[in-house]
Amino acid sequence: MTVRLGSRGAEVRTLQAELKAAGVLSGKVDGIFGRQTLAAVKKFQAKNRLVQDGVAGPRTFAKLRADGKAPASNVSKAPVGTLTTGYVNGRAKSFRVASIGNGKKLRADAAAQFNKMKAAARRAGVSLSPNSGFRTMAEQKRLYALYKAGRGNLAAKPGYSNHQGGVSVDIQTGGYSSKTYKWLAKNARQYGFVNDVRGEPWHWTYKR
Ligand SMILES: [Zn+2]
Repeated sequence: MTVRLGSRGAEVRTLQAELKAAGVLSGKVDGIFGRQTLAAVKKFQAKNRLVQDGVAGPRTFAKLRADGKAPASNVSKAPVGTLTTGYVNGRAKSFRVASIGNGKKLRADAAAQFNKMKAAARRAGVSLSPNSGFRTMAEQKRLYALYKAGRGNLAAKPGYSNHQGGVSVDIQTGGYSSKTYKWLAKNARQYGFVNDVRGEPWHWTYKR
């Protein structure tokens, strides 16, 4: 990784935490590479006979890690997931989404619970494979058009699907009599998921 003046994000946080641990930065760990961070990088580079360019590249990071001074554990963690725009009851809403496998995502808190549930299911010999999770407006419009044309499953009006709120997941179940559905019916609630559309054994919504 390489970060420099103007960089932002998790890598800058890591850098700042290391610089603080090395005793060359007294400012905040805020994930923003500003003048203070620049000065700290140069100071660290000078101390360690690195090129004093103020750019934290592989060599500077390697030295920071090798100095034996671990960053403090109370560094505020970067939030999980990717900020996105979804829809709840027809209104645009921004929230973070995180991965649940198969390239699908859910709102970050729902994703964390889904992944816990998936791990528990796996221990019981049941595989929870998501076919659909968070949907963008474009995806919901496409599915709604298919449904209207009689060529797709029931799909809510664009803006009104719980999939757009990042809380609904369609799981490959194989129907109400399947092992997967039965496991979910027994266990999903403790992770906050309920099967809330009649006739759709695959559709589970996070209700917390
Ligand atoms: Zn669904």
